[in-house]
Amino acid sequence: MQIEINAVPALNDNYIWVIHTAAHDHCVVIDPGEAAPIIRWLEQHHKRPAAILLTHHHYDHVNGVEALNNQFNPKIWGPVDERMPEDTQPLSEGDHVDIPELELNFEVLEVPAHTRSHIAFFGHQMLFCGDTLFSAGCGRLFEGTPAQMLAALDKLGALPGDTRVYCGHEYSQSNCEFALQVEPENSALQTRAEQVKKLREHDRVTLPTTIAEERRYNPFMRTRETDVIAAAKSIEPEIESAPEAVLGAIRRWKDAH
Ligand SMILES: [Zn+2]
Repeated sequence: MQIEINAVPALNDNYIWVIHTAAHDHCVVIDPGEAAPIIRWLEQHHKRPAAILLTHHHYDHVNGVEALNNQFNPKIWGPVDERMPEDTQPLSEGDHVDIPELELNFEVLEVPAHTRSHIAFFGHQMLFCGDTLFSAGCGRLFEGTPAQMLAALDKLGALPGDTRVYCGHEYSQSNCEFALQVEPENSALQTRAEQVKKLREHDRVTLPTTIAEERRYNPFMRTRETDVIAAAKSIEPEIESAPEAVLGAIRRWKDAH
């Protein structure tokens, strides 16, 4: 069975991800932050969602749920959080989401940091990680600590290197520009930055990335590297060398950017 993944652009820079196959009328929709573009896509491709997977409660990931629910009545899966849309079936670490209509099964990974209940979905060599891991970046720490983001990125970083990573936003270009300030000598990062720049010049999607690639150039996954520690200390000289301290300093540096 050939699985296809489409990125449906929504709002400013969100992606609604759709998993589908040529053989099935059903599809899976991840983080529908806006109703109109995903409903247009579904109509054009003659698909209907069997399931909606939600990574966290932010409006730009869930605002399309109600319209999809009214029109298609799919199963809705997401984290345990009272702020999730109505009818969301709650998921915790290690749970499996079974989608028999498409013969798909995803494992649930809890990755609290961007929000306190953020989850990711892993299966079929694919990771849907919302606003936790971006290419060459990570999500802002709205409800979590640097230590929690470190734990989340360590957990995702331990997945097989060939895992394809589908992030919630098109942030790769600004992330690469910032990452080059942290690690200007990183040749894998230089190559990725060039590739991303070319893709964006043509308004192309820079995702998916892979876990193996991110390990090579994502500064937030490289907080144990000498160059990254040195860069963090050049901004906040008083911090310790512990990876959570380095991650915190780099995150604050990026936030001030
Ligand atoms: Zn978010």
